[in-house]
Amino acid sequence: MNLDHIDHIGIAVRSIADCLPFYEGVLGLECYNVEEVEDQKVRTAFLKIGQTKIELLEPTSPESSVAKFIEKKGEGIHHIAYLVDDVQACLDEAKEKGVRLIDQAPRKGAEGLNIAFLHPKSSCSVLTELCMVPKECENSDKE
Ligand code: ZN
Repeated sequence: MNLDHIDHIGIAVRSIADCLPFYEGVLGLECYNVEEVEDQKVRTAFLKIGQTKIELLEPTSPESSVAKFIEKKGEGIHHIAYLVDDVQACLDEAKEKGVRLIDQAPRKGAEGLNIAFLHPKSSCSVLTELCMVPKECENSDKE
């Protein structure tokens, strides 16, 4: 697989508002984007550090997988996301190597990225996300 860098670390929280005083007030990071990802029933807040981001994930419904995660394990690190150049190619390679996939094909995630998850059963219990900037957006300037 062709991994570029860690794009972000996803952290499951009960309340983004309760966590921002630590990340902004203590660590001095800046929350530059909050958005709701309906598909995953979460609200996400992004803070940037270098080329890596911290993604705070707050469930918006008890059915959210993040809500279930918090219920089972409490708040904490939920997933690690690697930036790749081709999510589908990585999924195909992972599958070929016997890795259990959560997503067979990339889907839309926060920040307009195409994302897919590998199953934690195949990745030493760490939910692993692969993400990429969609090709059609690559050349457009970020707002
Ligand atoms: Zn993520």
